[in-house]
Amino acid sequence: MSPSQSQKSPLPVDEYLPEIISALTTSGNLVLQAAPGAGKTTRVPSALLDSELSAGREVLVLEPRRLAARLAARRVAEEIGEEPGGTVGYQVRFDEVSGPRTRLRFLTEGVLTRRLLADRRLEQVGIVILDEFHERHLQSDLVLALLRGLQRNERPDLRIVVMSATLDAGPIADYLGAGEPLTIPGRQYDVQIEYLAESPGQPDGRQLAAQVGAALGRLIEAGLDGDVLVFLPGAAEIRRSQEACANLAARENLLVVPLHGDLSAEAQDLAVRKARQRKVILSTNVAESSVTIDGVVAVIDSGLARIAGHSPWSGVPTLEVGRISQAAAIQRAGRAGRTRPGLCLRLYTRQDYLARPAHQAAEIVREDLAEPVLALHAAGIGNIADFDWFEAPPAPALGAAEVLLSRLGAIDERGGLTVIGREMLRYPVHPRQARLLVEARARGVFAPACGLAALIGERDIMARPLFGGVGAKGGGGAARHHGPSDLLERLDLLTEAGRRDLAPGVLRDLGLDPGAVQAVDRVRRQLLRLAPRGGAGDREGRADASTDEALLIATLAGYPDRVARRRSLKDEAGDLLLSSGGGATLSPRSVVRGAEYLVAVEAEERRERSGSERHLVRLASSIEPEWLIDLAPDSIRESVEAKWNAKSERVEAVERLTCDQLLIDERRVVDSHRPEVLEEIRKVLATAAREAGWWRFADQDDVHRFLWRIAFIGWNFPQAGMTDIGEADIDVVLGEMCDGLRSFAELRAVAGRGGLVNRLRHRLPPDQLKYLNSMAPETIDLAGRRNVRINYERDQGPWIASRLQDFFGMKEGPRIGGGRIPLVLHLLAPNQRPVQVTTDLAGFWQRTYPQVRRELSRRYPRHSWPEIRGE
Ligand code: ADP
Ligand code: MG
Repeated sequence: MSPSQSQKSPLPVDEYLPEIISALTTSGNLVLQAAPGAGKTTRVPSALLDSELSAGREVLVLEPRRLAARLAARRVAEEIGEEPGGTVGYQVRFDEVSGPRTRLRFLTEGVLTRRLLADRRLEQVGIVILDEFHERHLQSDLVLALLRGLQRNERPDLRIVVMSATLDAGPIADYLGAGEPLTIPGRQYDVQIEYLAESPGQPDGRQLAAQVGAALGRLIEAGLDGDVLVFLPGAAEIRRSQEACANLAARENLLVVPLHGDLSAEAQDLAVRKARQRKVILSTNVAESSVTIDGVVAVIDSGLARIAGHSPWSGVPTLEVGRISQAAAIQRAGRAGRTRPGLCLRLYTRQDYLARPAHQAAEIVREDLAEPVLALHAAGIGNIADFDWFEAPPAPALGAAEVLLSRLGAIDERGGLTVIGREMLRYPVHPRQARLLVEARARGVFAPACGLAALIGERDIMARPLFGGVGAKGGGGAARHHGPSDLLERLDLLTEAGRRDLAPGVLRDLGLDPGAVQAVDRVRRQLLRLAPRGGAGDREGRADASTDEALLIATLAGYPDRVARRRSLKDEAGDLLLSSGGGATLSPRSVVRGAEYLVAVEAEERRERSGSERHLVRLASSIEPEWLIDLAPDSIRESVEAKWNAKSERVEAVERLTCDQLLIDERRVVDSHRPEVLEEIRKVLATAAREAGWWRFADQDDVHRFLWRIAFIGWNFPQAGMTDIGEADIDVVLGEMCDGLRSFAELRAVAGRGGLVNRLRHRLPPDQLKYLNSMAPETIDLAGRRNVRINYERDQGPWIASRLQDFFGMKEGPRIGGGRIPLVLHLLAPNQRPVQVTTDLAGFWQRTYPQVRRELSRRYPRHSWPEIRGE
């Protein structure tokens, strides 16, 4: 790169710079809108840095793409005759170029979130510029809200600038409390648009390349006299198209240059700079608005891009090829009309275009939120639902993120960050991968785990067709093996490819996607560099069985909610039960054939022939159920189920270990001493006993007599305040008596023969019991000769029955209730038939006995019937 070109060419933004500075001075924040190429990215930040507004502090510029951050830093440095790392620097995920003098920094969004967490007040920063805000990446929404919060509270002097070429400026200006948005008029020439006449269907990489070649041919026929910009989804499609255009380019003396984030700085410069030849720039959507390339007169638009999404299964970010929105297509076509009227060839039909959504929804309303929510917790924002978002994310997505983070052990019940959570923040990856790395570090396998985390987060290294979907061609020989984990299997392939430095062709023959291998390996190495001191001194590859085990455990740590169990161990069929409920199928390409338990690392929804949806688990990793206790403590439940066996009239207890909805272990409890087991058994026996009726276990008369004694006191001596005991108490007492028992037979043994009454009696306080015994005794002595039982019954007075002779010698009948209540006497003849029922014994002796005596003497002459005279 040459710092020679240090004088600046004039750009449309230049003459507005004083207005921008004064608007920002008056309103604090500013929304700036200007056409692509107007000079927003290259001129505004340095002008603000030089102004008094920055107050000698730093200016940060947030770029939605790494490529844009790097290119912008280089360009701005160049314009002031420096190299990046001097006054101007950049920092993107895993890569930083800056120095002690750096005051203007181009950053990608995640980097700024991290900086905000480490340096909450951003004391050194005067101005933050959010460039290309229309992209509305999740992280930029998060950063915006954090900055706005900071500005509202501790840093009212902080200034925020939002810039874009296409933006609905009103709402964001309102949110920022900025003044009227500033719009810089730009020039845009007409662009003629041509579509394909017929739909090519879903093109694979090769077809797409052929279409690009054909379109280029058409442009040349039409007399192309400038540069061509081709929009393709990714590096692989760019490489293929480069091949497809090679002959034509050679013949026409065209320079074909790729442009995407993974290229070297030199290669990126080559794409952006003016060249002597006409250029064909094969670019990803970075050239849609981040990077302006001058001299473009024609655009070829595949209509495709790698669009950020997330796996619905794991929440881990994905970058899948998808159709761009109408707004993006318009933006792409506009690249051809910068300097004069241009031409855009769309590699899709007009119907296809019309069927597309007008705009892509902002990421915040469609993305997995685990990573930003972790950041918010780290920023000490407890109540995330009330957080002042520019556009609030859907509540269910927020809830799911919180649940996952707590499952991963990253946050505690009060929403505070745990030690694990704090360590997770160190790694700029999805919290699942971060948790995996934390666990791996603790187990001394950080180095190989970096490979696992990279494999999870990047595209699958096993070759897959352009549009995703499983089971198409390729797939390597993986399914031939058996192994503990599909991730370890891939880790081996990755290590092997790195060790032998395999060429792309060889990788492809092995069923691998060379681009993906490269991407995974890059992330792996970058993660490795983040190792905390002393953390990465461990082995690189899969050295031995204990490394394997530690890696499998670490994988579980990232997926504690994704446990599965093979339905049957007998065959290798991939029929799984999921801890989240329901079933799934293990892909036949998975190597995890022998394990009973596994975690489903990645799965996709498949429509069965029957029309029902079913998950196909693509990546699995085996586990041992014992690991769950430590690593999925929130999912594990130990429970006891006690069931009533009506036939044997006993309780049968089963102890269960479950992981969410998955049964891990079940066994009959033969002789448990654990209180919760005993309590469960007691409850079931008590319920069965209550339903059967207490009289099956105790003598009904005994129990009733006791209850009526109490009722007798309540009725006759209400002032005594006797505790009422009734049928309800019987059930309670019987339930208590079930403690430690399992069957009706056992219950009968303890409740029968007075056992139940005895327990009922103990429900009375001692003084009441004493009162009961003295006022309503169970028995009474007759003339010192016989002790007879007193009967207490409903609706009649207490009574006794005894032979007439037993009353000889008694003038008056006996009384209870402190002498107030005479007993009803059933006076019996020797044949046990009552000769009289009375409460008035004296009256009986006087009036009735003389006649009774005559009769009885005749019938029972051998008994003695003395004469008794009543007084
Ligand atoms: P904006 O951000 O408003 O879209 P930029 O500030 O990125 O515009 O670019 C303004 C102009 O500067 C572009 O039209 C282009 O000509 C030129 N430019 C920017 N970056 C580079 C670069 N790296 N190499 C060559 N020219 C560049
Ligand atoms: Mg720009």
